[in-house]
Amino acid sequence: MSQTTYHRALEIMSDICIGCSHCMKVCPTEALRVSGGKAKIHVDWCIDCGECYRICPTRAIRVMDDDFKHIFDFKHRVLLVPSVFYAQFDENISKEKIYAIIGELGFTEICAVEQSVDSLLDEENEYLKTAVKPAISSFCPSVIRLIQVRFPSLVDHIMQLLPPIEITAQYYKNKFKREGIPENDLGIFYLTPCIGKIAAIKSPVGGYTSPINGVINMDFFFNKVFLAYKQRIPITQTVKVSREISSKGVLFPTTGGESVHIEGKTLAIDGMANVIDFLEMLENEEIEGMDFLELRACDESCAGGILSHRNRFLMANSMKEYACKMPVTHNLTEDYKKYCSAVIHMEKIEPRSMVKYDRDIEVALKKMEGARELKLLFPGIDCGACGAPSCEALAEDIVKDQADINSCIFLRTLYEKRGEMSLEETIAIMENIWGKDRFIKKK
Ligand code: SF4
Ligand code: SF4
Repeated sequence: MSQTTYHRALEIMSDICIGCSHCMKVCPTEALRVSGGKAKIHVDWCIDCGECYRICPTRAIRVMDDDFKHIFDFKHRVLLVPSVFYAQFDENISKEKIYAIIGELGFTEICAVEQSVDSLLDEENEYLKTAVKPAISSFCPSVIRLIQVRFPSLVDHIMQLLPPIEITAQYYKNKFKREGIPENDLGIFYLTPCIGKIAAIKSPVGGYTSPINGVINMDFFFNKVFLAYKQRIPITQTVKVSREISSKGVLFPTTGGESVHIEGKTLAIDGMANVIDFLEMLENEEIEGMDFLELRACDESCAGGILSHRNRFLMANSMKEYACKMPVTHNLTEDYKKYCSAVIHMEKIEPRSMVKYDRDIEVALKKMEGARELKLLFPGIDCGACGAPSCEALAEDIVKDQADINSCIFLRTLYEKRGEMSLEETIAIMENIWGKDRFIKKK
C-alpha cells in the first residue's frame, strides 16, 4: 500500500521565526525553504528528525501533538512508558512514586513499552536468515523516512518487522479484548521521547494501522509529573502497573542495545550525520559482509530524543544502571510470543523520492531531467540566498513551479549586467525571499 499523505509533527510559528535559515541548512532532506522572510516546511519531505527544532535560535518551531487532553475520553486509560522516561528523573525519585503520580494524573494502567523486546529480538534473528543484507532495523522512524526520501534504493534493506511500541500496543489491545473490555472504553497512549514516533504512529508505514489512540509529549509530561512530585500532591487514585521488563528491554532504545543481541556481523550507528554518511557508503556499494545495521537518528539514540529533558549521556548511564537491576528475561515473554507472532510483520516499505517531483512517474522523470539541466545553470556553491538550501533544491523547485529562475542572485547579477533586469527588480525579488525588514538597518 503506498501512502500519499504524511502526518506532520512540527509547526513553524511564523510570528516568532526571524528567517535566519539555520533550520534550512541542517535539514537532511532539504524540506525547508525561506520565503517572505519566514521558514516553511514541506510536509512530504520532512522525516521528523527534529534537527531544525534543535537548532532554531528563537524556539520558533513547536511540536504540534499532545493528546493528553483526550485521555478522559476513555474509561480504561493505558500509558505505554518507554524506559527513557524514568531515566529523566534523579535516581533518588523512586519508580513507585512516579507510577503513583502518573495514576493521579489520570491513567489507570502503566506498561513498559519494551516488554515486547525479548520476543522481537528472537523474530529479528529468525528474519535475518532470509533477509536482504545488511538488514536495517525498523526501530527508528526518522531513519526509515530518511531512507524512503533520500536513499530509495535501500528500502528493501529495512526489516519488515514492527517496532516494540506497536507490538506492545497490539498485545494490550488483545489482552483487554480477552478480558471483555469494549474497544471504545480502551484508550492506549504512548509517551514519546521524539517527534519521529509521533509521525510513525499517526502515519504508519508498511500497510499498518496503529492501535494507539494518542501520543503524549514526554517533555510536557515530565514537567507535569515533576511538578506534582515537588508539590507533594496527595495520592488518591490507584494505578495498575505491569512491571515486566528485562535488561534487554531497558537497553534496547540505547545505542548498541539492539545490535548486541543480533547474530552475525552487526554495527550500531547514532546521529543523523553519521547515519547519512554510512547510508551513502552502502548506496555506493562500499560496504561488504555486514548482516545488520542498528541506525538511530539521534545521538545516544532515544536518550537524545528532542523531547528528552535531561542530558543524554546521563540518561544513557541511568538506563545502564537500571538494566543491571533487571532480570535477563521476564514472565510475559511467552505470552507475547503467543499473541504477537501473527501481528509482528509489516508490508514492504515504499520509497518516497518520486513524490518529490510528481505522483505520476512519467511526469516525475521529465521534471527530474529538467531539474538536472537547470542545475547546470547555477554556480553550485549552495549559498542559500535564493531561499532554498542548495542549487539543486532551487532547480527542483523551479521545475515544480514553486520558485523562479530569477531567485538565483548570480543569474540576477548577470541579467542586470546585460540590462535585462533593473536593480529595483532584483531588490524586489530579494525582499520577496527574505522579507522587507531584512534591509532596514537596525540600531
Ligand atoms: S531556525 Fe528556521 S524557524 Fe528558527 S528562526 Fe531561523 S528560519 Fe525561523
Ligand atoms: S524535522 Fe528534520 S526533516 Fe523535518 S524539516 Fe526539520 S530538519 Fe527537515
